[in-house]
Amino acid sequence: MASSVSVSSRLNKAVLQRYLSLPQQGKTQVTYIWIDGTGEGLRSKTRTLDSEPKSVEDIPEWNFDGSSTYQAEGSNSDMYLIPVCMFKDPFTLDPNKLVLCEVLKYNRLPAETNHRNSCNKVMEAVKEQHLWFGMEQEYTLFGTDGHPYGWPANGFPAPQGPYYCSVGANNAYGRDVVECHYKACLYAGIKIYGTNAEVMPAQWEFQIGPCEGIEMGDHLWVARFLLHRVCEDFGIIATMDPKPMKGNWNGAGCHTNVSTKEMREEGGLQYIEQAIEKLSKNHAEHICMYDPHKGQDNIRRLTGIHETSSIHDFSAGVANRGASIRIPRHVGQEKRGYFEDRRPAANCDPYAVTKVIASTCILSTDNNTQSQQ
Ligand code: ADP
Ligand code: MN
Ligand code: MN
Ligand code: MN
Repeated sequence: MASSVSVSSRLNKAVLQRYLSLPQQGKTQVTYIWIDGTGEGLRSKTRTLDSEPKSVEDIPEWNFDGSSTYQAEGSNSDMYLIPVCMFKDPFTLDPNKLVLCEVLKYNRLPAETNHRNSCNKVMEAVKEQHLWFGMEQEYTLFGTDGHPYGWPANGFPAPQGPYYCSVGANNAYGRDVVECHYKACLYAGIKIYGTNAEVMPAQWEFQIGPCEGIEMGDHLWVARFLLHRVCEDFGIIATMDPKPMKGNWNGAGCHTNVSTKEMREEGGLQYIEQAIEKLSKNHAEHICMYDPHKGQDNIRRLTGIHETSSIHDFSAGVANRGASIRIPRHVGQEKRGYFEDRRPAANCDPYAVTKVIASTCILSTDNNTQSQQ
């Protein structure tokens, strides 16, 4: 195998099993998870609680050293971890927990990369709309040598064509990761909707949803954590880079499916069309929020080829995978359902994406004149 795997993955896992099954004397391990100062990286650390938390309210605040996560501000490097969403831990099993946290600075204001805080306020404001999201997370497996997993060391696999939704050792690279991640999500309580092999070999997708409001970001971030953690066990890496391989290879996006209650009901297509009209007037602002670097990552992906639209233009269409917004064919036929925003990059922050979609489609008025491009 050309791709190299990490040293820790070569440790004897049978030894690990002996210790994982030891009784815990009534204690619970709680792993706190948060987004670091890059806006893409995840960090975690674990502590012992004397009893099993029944809900996130039973988990105390904690803190960490922001100077080691690109999050410190001056000499005040202590950051607060505020538990917001609790899951079962699929690695150390019941009764242990994973808890996603918001990060606050020393002055208890949200950290720069804490987009959940403001997203939550918007989601509260639009609550009566029962806004649902489903996000399709594409990602690419890499060996520790920085080469896509399973690709020949010197050269390239055969051109794209046989890999999407494929089966067979010649076409599907790294399925064990996908299966383990899927099971881990189900065990944890993540709303995972499905999974598939993607167009580029070693590229895969999982979908999260439908999720209402703030739940979308919460579940997707923890699903990403689980993916990185599963990959760690196998000694390989999952990258969310939106265009990991230059040239004639598909990039990786995070298509975002959206509906309000009225879009899902009979005759809902007219509300979908109204939302698309609003989105068309705010293209540049949305592109800014669809990757962590204001479009600078996504510009490598949104070229207008490889099933993408150009980053510079807004377009929409039924069953059109080359448009910014696609109305799925069955939605066009039934005249109700949801639409798909195909622009977000694989490394987007789902809080930033869902917040701007909610703001534009629901909170803004029609004669809004925000930045156009
Ligand atoms: P695609 O055909 O674009 O590949 P997928 O099957 O990969 O679509 O993903 C569909 C996504 O749409 C899933 O995340 C699912 O949760 C989401 N979804 C389904 N129904 C709705 C809805 N009514 N509103 C919002 N999202 C939805
Ligand atoms: Mn999909
Ligand atoms: Mn896809
Ligand atoms: Mn899609």
